[in-house]
Amino acid sequence: MSVRDLIILGCSSQQPTRLRNHGAYLLRWNQEGFLFDPGEGTQRQFIYADVSPPTVTRIFVSHFHGDHCLGLGSMLMRLNLDRVKHPIHCYYPASGKVYFDRLRFGTIYHDHIQVIEHPVTKPGIVHQDERFTIEADFLDHGVDNVGWRITEADRVKFDRDKLTAHGVKGAEVKELEQAGKIKVDGKEVRLEEVSWIKKGDIFSCVIDTKPCKGALSLAKDATLLLCESTYLEEHRDLAHSHDHLTTIQAAEIAKEANAKKLILTHFSARYRDLDPFVEEAATVFPNVDVADDFKRFPF
Ligand SMILES: [Zn+2]
Ligand SMILES: [Zn+2]
Repeated sequence: MSVRDLIILGCSSQQPTRLRNHGAYLLRWNQEGFLFDPGEGTQRQFIYADVSPPTVTRIFVSHFHGDHCLGLGSMLMRLNLDRVKHPIHCYYPASGKVYFDRLRFGTIYHDHIQVIEHPVTKPGIVHQDERFTIEADFLDHGVDNVGWRITEADRVKFDRDKLTAHGVKGAEVKELEQAGKIKVDGKEVRLEEVSWIKKGDIFSCVIDTKPCKGALSLAKDATLLLCESTYLEEHRDLAHSHDHLTTIQAAEIAKEANAKKLILTHFSARYRDLDPFVEEAATVFPNVDVADDFKRFPF
């Protein structure tokens, strides 16, 4: 199986700190590199993380506040420099097209790569293939802001003992998977008799929002939910006035959505210690952890 992990390249909100860069998150999954919200300095964070920038295949910009997109231009420039051959798909809220273009063409460089833009105008599926379905939904942040949900396709898994018992072997296994049934020594064997379905995993990214319906539906049954909690509970008034979440609100989304694991991120620069984020959120949703620059979450 190929590498599957979430690498935190930064986890600060509006202002970076000595310890935390502007947000940026790389999800490596089934030969893809999904890069979410490349904030300022993301290119350099790849170097510290010891990950090659051409790993990136798709870039998602939730909205065009600087901490979520100032690294977009330099990442695209870097991918040009590295002369990547694969297309780079870019997803962003359609109303931000003017900012996307400014960031993309803000400097002089030789444009070799194929950038395929997917401006999002409404909630729903933005990409689907035999491996993944990617969905977008709008969040509540005062400006157009999109969250993401990536669902892996369900897969057929064979039970070796049952295959042997039914005498199915070699190329017949593939044939059975494709046709749904097969004849072995004159006897019919059906796919469901010798296999089971492994449900695909779900990754959800909910960054910069107040509690809202979109956040909940994106997070539904997520294997891994990456969610902002800019503030601790004592600053709920600030969270409300700046259209953000507190620890408890993020944990409530994870709980109500039946997520399996919650990772908090996008921390206000006012906090130095992140332990209280885990402690508070765990009172509502125990399987919680915090992002930190260069931390990796395999899944
Ligand atoms: Zn932000
Ligand atoms: Zn924002």
